[in-house]
Amino acid sequence: MFSPAPVPASPGSSSQRKRGSTESIGMYAVQCCDCLKWRTVPTKDEFETIRENLTADPWFCSKRPDCSCEDPADIEYDNSRIWVIDRPNIPKPPPKTDRLVVMRGDLTKMDIYYVMPNGKRAKGIGEVQRFLETNPEYKDSFSLESFSFTVPKIVEETVSNSSAWKTKKGKKQDKTDASSSKNEL
Ligand SMILES: [Zn+2]
Repeated sequence: MFSPAPVPASPGSSSQRKRGSTESIGMYAVQCCDCLKWRTVPTKDEFETIRENLTADPWFCSKRPDCSCEDPADIEYDNSRIWVIDRPNIPKPPPKTDRLVVMRGDLTKMDIYYVMPNGKRAKGIGEVQRFLETNPEYKDSFSLESFSFTVPKIVEETVSNSSAWKTKKGKKQDKTDASSSKNEL
């Protein structure tokens, strides 16, 4: 189920932010194809670079300076935060644009927005086309293939710990479940 695609993990606190307005991803991580440990990726830009060529250029711990498969994982894949799995090979956003991944308030779905050079948002390829029609000076530098509205897959097991999801599903808090799931050896 979990291909070695880079995975941004977002904290479950997105409900505190303004709805639908900001990036929901709080942390980026990539899995080593060799040891399968998760390594955090410090910036969105670096994450987008890794993701862009992941199939042709898989990621290994040795790609990071001073890191080897012997080192303990940076982050564990568990229910302590919400995980969403990105698909590999999403092109890097064109210059002067920003690609936002926004979680809906009820944690059921994510949306992709591109912030265009004029500060407006495009939430589908039709809006990108309309931007290019009204701003033809970008037609040379932007290709429609550089825009991807492919949303990451939300890992439901990691969402089910969140209070927003529980309210939605009408489930009761199950504290014992959350605290006993971690095994220390
Ligand atoms: Zn490794």
